[in-house]
Amino acid sequence: MSFFQYYRCSQCEKEYDSQHLIYLCPECGRDYSAGIPLPGILECVFDYASIAQAWADFIKENPDAGIERRIHKLCEIFSPVDLEHYPNLPVGNSPLIPGTGLGIKNLYLKFDGLNPSGSFKDRASALMVAEAKRRGIKEIVTASTGNAASSLAALCAASGIKAVIFAPANAPKAKLVQIKVHGATLNLINGSYDDAYKEAMKYSLEHDCLNRNTAYHPFTIEGKKTAGLEIFAQLGQLPDYIFVPTGDGVILSGLAKAFADLLAARMTDHLPALIAAQAESSDAICSYWETGIYQDAKEPKTVADSISVKTPAAAHLAYRVLHESDGMGIRVNDTEILAAQKMLASRTGIFCEPASASALAAFFQAKEQGWIKDNSKVVLMITGHGLKDIEAVKDDT
Ligand SMILES: *Cc1c(COP(=O)(O)O)cnc(C)c1O
Ligand SMILES: [Zn+2]
Repeated sequence: MSFFQYYRCSQCEKEYDSQHLIYLCPECGRDYSAGIPLPGILECVFDYASIAQAWADFIKENPDAGIERRIHKLCEIFSPVDLEHYPNLPVGNSPLIPGTGLGIKNLYLKFDGLNPSGSFKDRASALMVAEAKRRGIKEIVTASTGNAASSLAALCAASGIKAVIFAPANAPKAKLVQIKVHGATLNLINGSYDDAYKEAMKYSLEHDCLNRNTAYHPFTIEGKKTAGLEIFAQLGQLPDYIFVPTGDGVILSGLAKAFADLLAARMTDHLPALIAAQAESSDAICSYWETGIYQDAKEPKTVADSISVKTPAAAHLAYRVLHESDGMGIRVNDTEILAAQKMLASRTGIFCEPASASALAAFFQAKEQGWIKDNSKVVLMITGHGLKDIEAVKDDT
C-alpha cells in the first residue's frame, strides 16, 4: 500500500485526488500551451507520519540492514506507485564513488550512467511505466533530447508497452540507435528539443496514452527523487552541496522533493544546497535565479546536448529550489565541460557524457571562488554515460 495521499499544485496549493490521472493543475495549467515553462506543476503529498512509522519499524526490526536494503525500503515507502508494478529491469541504486584527487576530501560522484539505458532518466521512466501498467495504459509518448527517449524505449520494452518518441534529428547517434533497437516508434524532428516537446504534447492530446514529457506528469519528478533517497542512505546523512547538471530543472526538482519528503517525515534536519550547472548558451535557470525574472535562453548551442534547453519545463520549480536550498546557478562553457569530462575519465575511471561533466566544471568554479570549504561534503550528479556520445570527444583522442 502506497503512502501517497494527494496531489498539490506547486503554484496555487489546491489539492487533487491521488487516484486521478492528471498532469498540470487544472486551474493554473488551464490555458497552457507548449512554449513556456510549465505552469501549475503538481507535487505528490504523502502520509509522512505513517512513512516515519514504517521507517522506524524497519530499522527496529532490521538494525543491521545494509545500504542496499535501506535504499529498497526508502524507495518503497516514498513511492507513489506500489513496487509490484515497476518494470523488471532494475533501475537506480547507482554507486556513490569517492572523487579522489579532484580537490576536496569529501567529494562523491553519484554515477547514474550505470543505469540500464545509461542515464538518470531511467528513474523517471521506470515510475511512468509502473503507472501505465497500474492503469492498463498501453502506450507512452515523450519528447527528448535523446536520453529520456532511449530510457523510455528500454523500460517500455521491459514491460510490453509501446513507446512513441519525438526527438531532434541531430541527437547523438548512440541515443537514436538505442531508441530504435528497443523497438520504439521514433519521430525525428527537424528542429530543437523545444519543438519536440510541442509535438509530443500534441500527440498525447490526440491519442490514448500516457505523456512522459519531463515535469508534465508529477511522477517524472517523483521518479527522479529516488537518487536523493539513495544519497541519504549511502552517506547516512545528507551532504552540504549537490551539483546538478541542469536543463529542464527536473533532476534538481526531484532531488529537492526527496529532501523535502525526508524533512517532512522528520528523517533529516539538514538540507543540502542545490547548485544548478548549466551550459553558457542554455542558461535560462541561472538567469532566472539571478534576476528573478524568467526569460528563455537565447540560443542553446552546446556540446552538452542533454542540457540544451531554451525553455526549461520546470523553470519555476527550479527557481524556488535554488532559492529555498540556499543554492545557486553556475554557467560553464564547452571548453570547461570537455576538460572536466576528460579529467574525470582519466582520474577516476568514470566516463560520463558532456552534460554530466558540467557538474564537475561547476564544482571547480565554486571551489576556485572559495564557496566550497575543504571540509564540505559534496556530491556531484554524474547523470549519463560517456559512450552515449563519443563524437563529443573523438577529435581529442
Ligand atoms: C536530462 C539530463 C540532464 C538534465 O536534467 P533536467 O531534468 O533536464 O535538468 C542532465 N544530464 C543528463 C545526462 C540528462 O540526460
Ligand atoms: Zn494551481
